Amino acid sequence: MTDARVDATILHLDLDAFFASVEQHLDPGLRGTPVVVAGLGPRGVVCAASYEARRFGVHSAMPTARARTLCPDGNFVSPRHDVYSEFSAQVMTILRDATPLVEQLSVDEAFLDVAGVRRLLGTPTEVAQQLRARIRDEAGLVASVGIATTKFLAKVASDLAKPDGLLVVEPGSELDVLHPLPVRRLWGVGPKTAAKLERFGVQTVGDVARLPLDVLVGSVGAAAGRHLHDLSHNLDPRDIVTEREAKSIGNEETFARDLTSRSDIERELVRLADSVGSRLRASGLLARTITLKARYPDFATVTRAHTSAAPTDTSSTILATARELLDQIDVARGLRLVGVHASNLVAEPEPVQGALSFDAVDERSPVDTRRTRVEHTMDEVRRRFGRDALRAATLVDRRDDPGGPTR
Ligand SMILES: [Mg+2]
Repeated sequence: MTDARVDATILHLDLDAFFASVEQHLDPGLRGTPVVVAGLGPRGVVCAASYEARRFGVHSAMPTARARTLCPDGNFVSPRHDVYSEFSAQVMTILRDATPLVEQLSVDEAFLDVAGVRRLLGTPTEVAQQLRARIRDEAGLVASVGIATTKFLAKVASDLAKPDGLLVVEPGSELDVLHPLPVRRLWGVGPKTAAKLERFGVQTVGDVARLPLDVLVGSVGAAAGRHLHDLSHNLDPRDIVTEREAKSIGNEETFARDLTSRSDIERELVRLADSVGSRLRASGLLARTITLKARYPDFATVTRAHTSAAPTDTSSTILATARELLDQIDVARGLRLVGVHASNLVAEPEPVQGALSFDAVDERSPVDTRRTRVEHTMDEVRRRFGRDALRAATLVDRRDDPGGPTR
């Protein structure tokens, strides 16, 4: 808690009314109407309610029967979790395109630390606006974002920003935002703890902050007391759990309409391989295993994987492998999603200065090593001039090059 951040660079992104929004996106007839995603049996419970349904007092965890009484004209839909996880993966892919520092909390929310991408993508507010726009355009969903100096406050802020909002808590104004809020906003304060605190006249987060620590500890116990004391002063030193610890790096694309032609699918593979390769290079990682994932219109999903002795971070090698894997999949009935994942990750060998590099353990193929240098240069050009400065078409051309890495 001594190394307080000077900049607000932690984003908490949370999808608004996630399950209900997915249903509204997939069925335009549901848009603008009260949608209740719920178990439809006699003892069913509400999983999610659209904002239109919330106006009638419907909320999640409420018995479906009660929701029907409150909102008799609502559209009641039973949950489709396989569909929601596909949308979730699509959103997480968009977030990981911005930075590898993404910590997914649940199916519809994540923390990001965007301190390191300012040069590439702009200020945290600009990054948040880009993410919200991409999620709206590509997944058809609405995300609210909170930006703050701590994870705790970023999460509070995204909640305050809902629906369809963006709230930045500027450094120095944290306690002004936090202290008027009801004490239930503090992480870990349920009805029981709130009742205990009320005996000391505690209503707001500010009341907690003003309570002497020993009184707080006497009321709710040592661990909880210390925890609440820290949060009420916006002391939350937890960092984002980085993707360095992740076991795979992958990108997936859900198509606006199912793809049936091999050339259309290959065009997507080019983009996916390109983005997986550039993320590997940005993280200093090499992958031994490349996995191709394909999903059919009926949501049946198949994966094919190839593991090589020579690890790679080269987009063109990843693409060549993905193409070979695509040959093993029947695409005639159309695909609604394609994904490329790199796993079995190893750290890139440290570059050795000078010519005496014989001792460096580099298992990459010589073609790969050469190609990686080219792609690093492409990465740098994109960093300076924008994503579209170099198109992935350069990868496509390699296919007809007999000396290229497709061999
Ligand atoms: Mg949510």
